[in-house]
Amino acid sequence: VKTSAEYIESLRSRNIELWLDGDRIENPVDHPLIRPSIESVAMTYDLAHQPDTHALATAHSELTGGRVNRFTHLFTGADDLVDKIKLQRILGRATGTCFQRCVGMDALNALFIATWEAGPENHARFVRWLTKVQQADEMICGAMTDAKGNRRKRAAEQPDAFLRIVERREDGIVIRGAKLHQTGGANAHQILVLPGGTYREGEEDFVLAAAIPADAPGVIMLLGRQPSDLRKGTPDAGNSTYGGQEVTVWFENVFVPYENVFLDGQIGPATTMLTAFAGYHRASYGGCKPGNFDVLTGAVAQLAEDSGIIKHAAVRDKLVEMTHLTETIHGVGLAASHKSTQHGSGIWQVDPMLANVCKQNVTRLPYEITRLAEDLAGGLVATLPGLESFDHPKLGPIMKNITGGRRRASLLRLVEYMTYGAGSVPLRIECMHGAGSPQAQRIVIERTADWAGRMASARNLAGLEDTASVQAAK
Ligand SMILES: Cc1cc2nc3c(=O)[nH]c(=O)nc-3n(C[C@H](O)[C@H](O)[C@H](O)COP(=O)(O)OP(=O)(O)OC[C@H]3O[C@@H](n4cnc5c(N)ncnc54)[C@H](O)[C@@H]3O)c2cc1C
Repeated sequence: VKTSAEYIESLRSRNIELWLDGDRIENPVDHPLIRPSIESVAMTYDLAHQPDTHALATAHSELTGGRVNRFTHLFTGADDLVDKIKLQRILGRATGTCFQRCVGMDALNALFIATWEAGPENHARFVRWLTKVQQADEMICGAMTDAKGNRRKRAAEQPDAFLRIVERREDGIVIRGAKLHQTGGANAHQILVLPGGTYREGEEDFVLAAAIPADAPGVIMLLGRQPSDLRKGTPDAGNSTYGGQEVTVWFENVFVPYENVFLDGQIGPATTMLTAFAGYHRASYGGCKPGNFDVLTGAVAQLAEDSGIIKHAAVRDKLVEMTHLTETIHGVGLAASHKSTQHGSGIWQVDPMLANVCKQNVTRLPYEITRLAEDLAGGLVATLPGLESFDHPKLGPIMKNITGGRRRASLLRLVEYMTYGAGSVPLRIECMHGAGSPQAQRIVIERTADWAGRMASARNLAGLEDTASVQAAK
């Protein structure tokens, strides 16, 4: 199991092609816009070595026969899924932002199931790859989302809006297209590409799951911009150490050897993978986001204490509401994991209804939590001058007078970062769209609900059917 220092060092040997606007970033590891996101991932490695979190952050692997980082681990029991949520909350609280390793973890579990369904050869290839990933404790970026273009057209009508196979050679395939919104892509060792939608017969070239080194020739990454990202590394960053990251990845005719191709045109197993991934990842939001909201609630509680309003009933009620909403999200994520069941492959899967309800809550409740945080923080959260003014001989005393001191100003910056600064990318927009936009969850809820059973219960209690309980009542 790598240490955080070993993880960061291992990133230096990659030669990734990463662009920030029109400039190629030669040294991403030390770049001020990237380093905070690397520090967030590094926390997943750190916790594996801290005595109080070691047991939670690592797990026994049946593939390697030893302990591995939980982020490369297979869900071999319901406990693994529950522990995942618990670990995510700790990480969300420790970093205050996205730590970028969950998509890869959820994706490799979904792909284990899908390759098992695809057949022994696909499965054996995948297991060989995963064993090496566990041994090297690699950071895996899970890449599903295609650009998709016009939703009324099929993929073949607009092929460059989808990642696809453009050539089949004796020793491997050549792929081309884009994957959007890739969390932690520039901080990964490998990109695990997966189909982002369901396909029909005749569309097999789009049904592709494969692993590609982040620095493979032809892999081009464009760094996503975030509000206030130029403040990273400055006193006005808000979150002094950590950050999130998304990149767009363009695959310009990238060669993938067959050893790293896990699905190639198997439509049924690919659909299984999509459903499994959606369940895992929608429950994951019940871990990380509550951890982030612990920090936001803590920030406004501290501000309220420092400014002398914390004992007022109205203020306490707002803090209680923030906590209630946070625990609502967490509770359903935990419940989905506790109610998990075993798939034929041996891997455990979350309860689909509760996982989707968890994510549906995440598309809504965070907006109320951040509204309450902005209410409690006051207007200075939006009008605060730069913190460097504290060091200015003339402006320093003015800054002290208007803010009450550097401590309050720094907390206000943190609230700003999380609600509408760089940190709002994972804390608002990712809550909305990550793991699928709200409608995607409503579709699953609609399909999963036992409508017939519910209607029968109602008919029964209305005395409309001659069921056992109606007969007994007679
Ligand atoms: C911060 C962040 C991090 C992310 N990280 C990852 C990652 O690591 N890996 C990854 O693969 N993806 C990632 N995603 C992508 C995420 O899964 C997608 O954003 C999500 O699935 C929505 O897809 P989209 O962005 O293309 O939006 P769209 O699909 O364009 O959705 C926009 C709107 O159109 C509606 N819509 C779309 N199609 C239809 C239709 N046929 N009928 C009716 N309504 C429709 C949607 O419901 C929604 O309201 C991330 C996204 C964000 C914002």
